[in-house]
Amino acid sequence: MGRHLYREGVYPIKKTYCENVDGRLGFACYTNGAMLPSAVLDLDHINGNHFHNTPDNLQTLCKICHALKTKANGDGTKPNKYLSVVSIQH
Ligand SMILES: [Zn+2]
Repeated sequence: MGRHLYREGVYPIKKTYCENVDGRLGFACYTNGAMLPSAVLDLDHINGNHFHNTPDNLQTLCKICHALKTKANGDGTKPNKYLSVVSIQH
């Protein structure tokens, strides 16, 4: 059920640029806020919880920023690290 919600609810709020243009991830975005094709933009869950699909927990990141954030936080390898994502961003 959560996955269904993700597929349906995700697209309307996906932006056309990387939201890390403001440096929210703690490093500069290589794209400088340029408009980008949807194919190179990902919707990222800010708190790392893929079942938490509210707009305030979603941000659009370019592939580069998303990969760097994922690597920094160990997404996919150490689920417990999700908690550290929150502490870094607040
Ligand atoms: Zn970016």
